[in-house]
Amino acid sequence: MSELLQNGRFKSERKEMVELIRSRGVKDENLLKAMLKVPRHLFVNELFIGRAYEDSALPIGMSQTISQPYTVAVMTEALEVKKGSKILEIGTGSGYQAAILAEMGAKVYTIERYVELLNSARKNLEKLGYQVVSKCGDGTIGWSEFAPYDGIIVTAAAPDVPQPLLDQLADGGILVIPIGDIDTQNLHVIKKFKDKFDTRVIFGFRFVPLIGKMGWQGNG
Ligand code: SAM
Repeated sequence: MSELLQNGRFKSERKEMVELIRSRGVKDENLLKAMLKVPRHLFVNELFIGRAYEDSALPIGMSQTISQPYTVAVMTEALEVKKGSKILEIGTGSGYQAAILAEMGAKVYTIERYVELLNSARKNLEKLGYQVVSKCGDGTIGWSEFAPYDGIIVTAAAPDVPQPLLDQLADGGILVIPIGDIDTQNLHVIKKFKDKFDTRVIFGFRFVPLIGKMGWQGNG
């Protein structure tokens, strides 16, 4: 195993990152344990390895970012992940969020629109032994083949909630998605009960745009 994969590397930085997240109100112990274990430095560009445990988003190529650790924590906590939960992630990016979900014991499906990012995420997940089902494509239409999902997490911001994602939620399932304009968004946490939806909003987040059929239109 390479030096980078050794558990000891950045252990104290990882602990500090998790303590900061805890101090900001995140309580899910299974999630905090996963964030303490998953080596975020393996998911960032080598240029930024020294900043891997700062509470900030970092570039991962293709003008995309690995999300801020606190944002990952808030979104994942809102998903109410249990061991064996079936979770669909839209926006694989670096693979870090997928690794956190897999470490928590979820069965993870993930979609990324850039093949370059997906290939690198797959390599990282494989290296660490996480079994995640992934594909390259437009996640705004979901992944009907494996639906329904106990949770769907969208890691890029949409102008509106894509209907296919609501359709692909299981009864009792939760969709976590940033909604807003290009500059600022709020997290919508939507629970499905017998084809009715209950929405709670968490304010003040900033994401890259969700681009696709049911998201923002464009090539960027
Ligand atoms: N979850 C990622 C991680 O842990 O690194 C962070 C992802 S980044 C904030 C958002 C990702 O969503 C980008 O990689 C972007 O290419 C992807 N994306 C945007 N629109 C998409 C779409 N329609 N389908 C799939 N992925 C999309």
